[in-house]
Amino acid sequence: MGLGSDMYRQQILDHYKNPRNYGELEDPTFTHIGENPMCGDEIRMDVKLAEDDETIERVAFSGDGCAISQASASMLSSELVGKNVDELLEMDRDDVVDMLGVDISPMRIKCAVLAEKVAQDGAEIYRGELDKEKTSTED
Ligand code: ZN
Repeated sequence: MGLGSDMYRQQILDHYKNPRNYGELEDPTFTHIGENPMCGDEIRMDVKLAEDDETIERVAFSGDGCAISQASASMLSSELVGKNVDELLEMDRDDVVDMLGVDISPMRIKCAVLAEKVAQDGAEIYRGELDKEKTSTED
């Protein structure tokens, strides 16, 4: 394990201890929740779209869970600002792993992708393309 991955580990711990954009938005365009029952992670994502109804203007998250799930949500909440909804929907697990910067074991991948899945499902529900009360990594 090189210095590089130590740096990323530090970054994950930093996001876990000092989460960015933690809380709830006053007037989100859409809000969605989800869980990873395997680990007990829970995430709520609030997304505010700009007037064009496409560009992500603000993101907030709240939740509870392991360092990877919470750090991933914190990083994603910053990463998504300025992207549009289509770009969010095109993201996959590799994008999340790249964002975290460390190898994620198969056991922990669900922790890592929870925030992304919640944001994506929230966007699809908002667009009327999905009907779901809560996202689960077990679906
Ligand atoms: Zn977890």
